[in-house]
Amino acid sequence: MRVSRYDYEAQFGDQLEQVVETIRDALLQGRYGLDSDVRRFEEEFAEWLGVGHARGVNTGTDALLLALLAVGVRPGHEVIAPANTFHATVAAIALAGATPVLVDADPETYLMDVDAAAAALSERTRAIVPVHLYGKALPLDSVLALADGRLAVVEDAAQAHGAADPAGERAGARGHAGCFSFHPSKNLAAAGDGGMIVTGDAELAEDVDRRRSLGQRVQNDHVVVGLNSKLHALQAIVLRAKLGRLDGWNEERRAVARAYRTGLAGLPVAFQRADPSELHVYHLFQLRTARRDELLRHLRAEGVDAVVRYPVPIHLQPAFADRGWRAGQFPVAERLARELLCLPIRPGMEEREVEHVVWSVRRFFEVG
Ligand SMILES: *Cc1c(COP(=O)(O)O)cnc(C)c1O
Repeated sequence: MRVSRYDYEAQFGDQLEQVVETIRDALLQGRYGLDSDVRRFEEEFAEWLGVGHARGVNTGTDALLLALLAVGVRPGHEVIAPANTFHATVAAIALAGATPVLVDADPETYLMDVDAAAAALSERTRAIVPVHLYGKALPLDSVLALADGRLAVVEDAAQAHGAADPAGERAGARGHAGCFSFHPSKNLAAAGDGGMIVTGDAELAEDVDRRRSLGQRVQNDHVVVGLNSKLHALQAIVLRAKLGRLDGWNEERRAVARAYRTGLAGLPVAFQRADPSELHVYHLFQLRTARRDELLRHLRAEGVDAVVRYPVPIHLQPAFADRGWRAGQFPVAERLARELLCLPIRPGMEEREVEHVVWSVRRFFEVG
């Protein structure tokens, strides 16, 4: 039996014909710009999340870059981010011309260690980028307290559409800006790349508006050097069709996660800590074991599409070799990179698929 990580056909369900029809109309009418479909999706996404403003951009990476520029990050500034995240979080800081300052992860939550972030503050710190990794919301109070109204907080919520911390605060909604990705692998998937910046600050939204349109205030009036990075209308059509089902999908992911946690109880493995009152949206379900590579081979042989996210922490990636970071500097991040493995998780997973994954993992440890 094969257990896959994605099922795009199921994501469209009985909406497929309607989506194709809408795309057809958009193609024939030349509805390719930010008008109508993108604007509508921005409004719907902002309302769904409970924020004032949303601006669609080309990718989650661009969302981070544009948000950092919009909050005033410039060359010479330092920006704090976790050492265990997807490459894009830190690439965006570097692309903004700022100096990324990494901090280690908490060994239980796998999220940025906020005390370590406090210790990393300097005169040059301009912003903090908390990452709601794997779909678990990092409570923002402590981060906002650190920022103390002086630093910007740009949330990387690329893996956390719909996640909420134990206080019910939704990932991406409380920082100066929140950044989302609609890459096909994410909980809300475009048919290609897409991203979104959300903010409660109308002026910041306007600044992002200019920066995603080559710095134009109105046509031919370029007031700042910007990017050309807009969410595409065809992607907005796909995303609008899916948004209404996202909360239900997240619930289905949570049910699979519960089944994994129950089914794998008693084995010599660990999981990302889950608080009963939080809303973890399980972009990834991570299992931790010192025998990770062996288990990965075993699961793949059993037809289980398990993968490693992410095998090389930021500070050991070749792209950042000139930053002066060294092995051993962020021991928790390094250990997570060595020991974490993602089990397949997606909405609509059948019980027998979950059972096959659980059986396969149990057999690995029980047979030895
Ligand atoms: C996917 C992702 C991004 C980047 O999003 P893209 O749309 O792929 O550019 C940034 N941060 C994290 C944590 C991600 O998972």
